[in-house]
Amino acid sequence: MDLLAGLNEPQREAVLHVSGPLLIFAGAGSGKTRTLTHRVANLILHHRVPAGRILAVTFTNKAAREMRERLNQLVGAEANRIWMGTFHAMCAQMLRIHGHLIGLDPRFVIFDTDDSTRLMKEILRDADIDSDRYPAPRMLARISDAKNNLQSPDDLQSVAGSPYHRVVARVFKMYQERLKAAHALDFDDLLGEAVRLVTESEWAREHWSERFLHVMIDEFQDVNQAQLAWAKALASKHRNICVVGDDDQSIYKWRGADVKIILDFEKQYSDAHIIRLEQNYRSTQNILDAAHGVISNNFGRKAKRLWTQTQGGERIVLNGAANAQEEAAWVVRQIELLQREQHLKLSDFAILCRVNAQSRPFEEAFMRARVPLKLVGTQRFYDRKEIKDLVSYLKVLYNPNDNIALGRIINVPARGIGATTIEKLGMIARESGLSLRDVILNCGQEVLGRAINMKLEPLRRILITLQTDAENARSVVELLDKVLDRTNYYEFLRGDRTGNGNDRVANVEEFMSAASVFDSRMQDEDFGFSDESRDPESPMEGPPYLGLFLESSALESGTESGATGEDATVLMTLHSAKGLEFPIVFMPGMEQGLLPHSRALWGEQSGPDELEEERRLCYVGLTRAQQRIYLSYATQRTLHGRTESTQPSQFIDELPPQLIDRSGFARVGASSVSSYATTWESSGSSSSSRSAFAPAAAPRSSEPPRYRVGERLKHPTFGEGVVVNASPSGGAGEWVEVAFLSQDAGKKKLAVAFAPLEKVE
Ligand code: ATP
Ligand code: MG
Repeated sequence: MDLLAGLNEPQREAVLHVSGPLLIFAGAGSGKTRTLTHRVANLILHHRVPAGRILAVTFTNKAAREMRERLNQLVGAEANRIWMGTFHAMCAQMLRIHGHLIGLDPRFVIFDTDDSTRLMKEILRDADIDSDRYPAPRMLARISDAKNNLQSPDDLQSVAGSPYHRVVARVFKMYQERLKAAHALDFDDLLGEAVRLVTESEWAREHWSERFLHVMIDEFQDVNQAQLAWAKALASKHRNICVVGDDDQSIYKWRGADVKIILDFEKQYSDAHIIRLEQNYRSTQNILDAAHGVISNNFGRKAKRLWTQTQGGERIVLNGAANAQEEAAWVVRQIELLQREQHLKLSDFAILCRVNAQSRPFEEAFMRARVPLKLVGTQRFYDRKEIKDLVSYLKVLYNPNDNIALGRIINVPARGIGATTIEKLGMIARESGLSLRDVILNCGQEVLGRAINMKLEPLRRILITLQTDAENARSVVELLDKVLDRTNYYEFLRGDRTGNGNDRVANVEEFMSAASVFDSRMQDEDFGFSDESRDPESPMEGPPYLGLFLESSALESGTESGATGEDATVLMTLHSAKGLEFPIVFMPGMEQGLLPHSRALWGEQSGPDELEEERRLCYVGLTRAQQRIYLSYATQRTLHGRTESTQPSQFIDELPPQLIDRSGFARVGASSVSSYATTWESSGSSSSSRSAFAPAAAPRSSEPPRYRVGERLKHPTFGEGVVVNASPSGGAGEWVEVAFLSQDAGKKKLAVAFAPLEKVE
């Protein structure tokens, strides 16, 4: 097979570059992922590199699946042996095999966000910490930041300068202790522990760095320090590390991603070969120009310009709606119209949202119009209550120390075990050092008291019977059947008083089919790591691969819900659309406060850097489109129960005005006069909502800046402060860096146009 056939010159160069560090640094749609895929195929077919000795890391499961499919076409079944997947999945595999070298139980469970939140709430309650001042999600975010930077609780403790930070450090410590007691790792631990494995165990480092002849990483602009450390350790022996990325598409700063890592690749590897790709094969020139108009407003970027042979193209359609419902209705109408005119499939359309909460009106509008819609990675399928319950039963059977899983199902279906009882059991467990399961199964009346002891009896019977079932089951489906049967779970769901019983039964059935697909895949396929994961030291009991099944359900973030199999439009977040492409892209919610997100505009952490990250997110959305883009905003939006008037996104003003097609307004106006009228009425005379129609404002203003270094000012949340750094010019892009007097606030960069600042005379 000629692997070079469908590639341009620089792409070929990248494929043929076989040894030593390589950086492919290029814009969206220039074929980076395609080049990476062909490079893997070339190594296997023409350089006889065993597939099992190649590590290829991607950011999403979807991307990994697509790459595996593509490689299956290029090299055949051998592709299954490649170590290919997300960072988390690859780290989890390594830890299952060699985690015992650093004291991990090979049967560790993975805590997802929901499990971690439960654990954190438990800790805050037990330690009597005020959860209003120290909310669980914020504690977890701080802990996650620390882990992404490879910091331990002790590291945090030693730099904690305020009482607040000391509490964070203490909570972090307790959190790690309880994870350890539950034989559990959270998502960040998968990475952190994998790094620890290859740093602390010389044997492991030797083994893995010897094993991987080639290490390849897609979307390298979004790696954090932990991921970098891991990849570097694995590539330390053969030094064949190939990374691919685009600084303009770095959108995971909130997970510790550091765009400097890709920009400094040459510093890490002074002999790195660098290849730039400039031809875009995805989008029309108009789409590229529109995207360029937006991204060129970012300061700290390496300038690059893309070109395409697809000259011209459609203009960017812009629509204003009165509210989210009308916005969704407009999207459905456009899809129906286009589908008829252009003979497109529904799956040719993608709706890309800034936040999950935007999906509701679309679900309703599509349902009403009977157009199938598929939500990808918005509400995780595995986050649904009934699925969580069943997974928790499996977790308890797999890892008897998982107290969080047991806590979840202790009274599900209801068996009269109340909150006080559960709390008491938890206390006994902590004080005795036993697992919750051991307390339930092995403590009798003397310890528990007569009443509790009696109440626990049915649960004990279920746990013991299921344990035997687990030992005898030959597949995950078989075990799940037993769980459903022994707990009367279907009956429990049918008794759901909220009227959702049937939906929930359907979800369970969907879960069963996912499990059966998993079972048959495990029986058919020969995965590269299966030989190693069957560690003779730790014989797997129960159905084979139960651990792998639990792992895939914990790490699967993008499970698709609804409309399975049939042709459907997809709705997903901008974040999860990274790397993908669609003929037609809709970006609803182009509003100040949504894109750019309110956190970047007005939040505690707001500032120019955050605004630039939002702009990159907008750029990622625009560059997903092959043929057409539809942007829209609502002048009023209800999010999280609050209805507010909104203003069009400042990013709309950054699009070259001649590329915007506003005829959508006329169309909406003609078909629904009232919505057109309300759009204008509710926006009233506010000039900002008109700004979308005005010629684009000049991005760099010549206005003098409002604030100068040394000036004192005041912010309603952070209090008083002094300007320590300021942008040279005023206007929309003006920013200031302020040292606030209060210790908690510290130093912040703020956008003058959006931060509610006041001068202090
Ligand atoms: P992103 O930055 O969004 O991840 P990318 O640089 O990874 O984009 P790809 O997804 O690899 O780009 O490629 C974009 C599209 O262009 C794909 O459909 C791909 O098949 C196609 N493509 C890439 N290179 C060529 C080529 N030389 N000839 C024809 N089509 C190509
Ligand atoms: Mg790509």
